[in-house]
Amino acid sequence: MTGSRPALFLDRDGTLNEEVDYLSNPDDLVLIPGSAAALAKVNARGIPVVVITNQSGIGRGRYDWLDFAAVMSRMDTLLGLEKAHIDAVYASPHHEKGQGDYAVADHPDRKPNPGMLLRAAEEHNLDLSRSWMIGDKDIDLEAGRRAGCKVALVRTGYGTEVEGDLADLVAADLPEALERILVMWP
Ligand SMILES: [Mg+2]
Repeated sequence: MTGSRPALFLDRDGTLNEEVDYLSNPDDLVLIPGSAAALAKVNARGIPVVVITNQSGIGRGRYDWLDFAAVMSRMDTLLGLEKAHIDAVYASPHHEKGQGDYAVADHPDRKPNPGMLLRAAEEHNLDLSRSWMIGDKDIDLEAGRRAGCKVALVRTGYGTEVEGDLADLVAADLPEALERILVMWP
């Protein structure tokens, strides 16, 4: 079933915040400059903001869900300072080198698979064909593309190493990407 609202799907690390290897300490969270103010504009348009993040560090036992929640809580605080917020967060802990139940190769949720976007669309009544996915890796673009979204590459995080041919839009960073997407969004 197709939902009625477009959404903004966002990778987290390297897109919304500076890339940190296995980020698990809230004190290490640094937003990409201008991102909070840019997200506030998306919020003001009534477009849901949904974070879609691979967190193999949880599956590998490098950190746990409480650490993840602490980082997201810090994220909420930093965004809130600029009247911005995230509406929903989806995280995949799965990895072929994961532990226990998380030891799954090519799990449907793990980007580049589109499982998290598809579930978000169902749970939040989202129209994927009018939605955008923004990320700094080709797996972000592929997941968004396979979910039926338009996709944007940002040149932060690992984004300098990606070719960009897969992207509908290539921007220096999240604020620039959102500035250009917001004028295209009806
Ligand atoms: Mg990333």
